[in-house]
Amino acid sequence: MPREQLDMPDILKIVRKIQPKLVLEAYESDKAECPQCHAARKVVKGVPVMLKSFCTDNCLKDTVKDLIESEMGFIDEIAAEFAKQNDLPNGQTIHYLNDDYRNNNLLFWDAQNQRIVYPFTEADDYGSVPPIFPVGDGYFNPTDWIDEVEHNSMVFPSITLIREMKEFVAEYSGKKRMIVEINGEEYDVVYNDKAMKGRWDSCVLEVIPAVYSWGERHHKGNTILEVHPGDPTWRKDIVEETDDNIKAKNAALLGMVAKHAKGAESANVVQAEINRANKMGGSRTRRSVRRRRNRTAKF
Ligand SMILES: [Zn+2]
Repeated sequence: MPREQLDMPDILKIVRKIQPKLVLEAYESDKAECPQCHAARKVVKGVPVMLKSFCTDNCLKDTVKDLIESEMGFIDEIAAEFAKQNDLPNGQTIHYLNDDYRNNNLLFWDAQNQRIVYPFTEADDYGSVPPIFPVGDGYFNPTDWIDEVEHNSMVFPSITLIREMKEFVAEYSGKKRMIVEINGEEYDVVYNDKAMKGRWDSCVLEVIPAVYSWGERHHKGNTILEVHPGDPTWRKDIVEETDDNIKAKNAALLGMVAKHAKGAESANVVQAEINRANKMGGSRTRRSVRRRRNRTAKF
């Protein structure tokens, strides 16, 4: 998704609308004179008119600029209002003003919690996609933030994607590659099975796209997801699907399969597809096989 740009005219428009407490205080909007240019303020019944008391764009702009630089979290309130006004989707990046160094001025919109989230700095101090936006089937695509986050392309896999990869590794020891399917797209997962032993639960993925967004081909084939060990504490923000949730989901899926399967004939098609996938040397995870099978059987 292309990132949203939040520039000063928009910031000032929002400040005028929501009148953040910090601005009113810094701008001394209760005084009859502007602290910046000393112009007299419009006074109605002895009280300066708050909104109109931003005497000129420049005075307000200077105040807001100072606050953005000096007050941690000040921009959050403005960016959150911007996200709500524009109904931005979950995981949307918002870049404000024009500092690009080290993902400075890069924010993420957490639509589920209606709040602004900063880049994650524990893995790479340049900042990366925060763990609250996990990648996997039914979640985000691994390439959703390519070209929006500078310096790294690290993403966090969903717990279901981790389980799927672990299942594959347990079944095919000694392999270093598998294919996973995420939201209808195939990805090549590459890993060092020895380095990853016992560390899959906290793994992170480095995304190496096949083609960059400007059209230049990086390598042939699927986008590559390179697995790295990561750190268990990094996943504390991810809302994990519990075993009970997954069991319930699987039961519902099996119910649907039973309802739509048309007798033994489709079961044979399914078995043939599984056999074919197995003959390919087991490069696909079970989920990928299962999805292919579903496609063949036209459920
Ligand atoms: Zn002024």
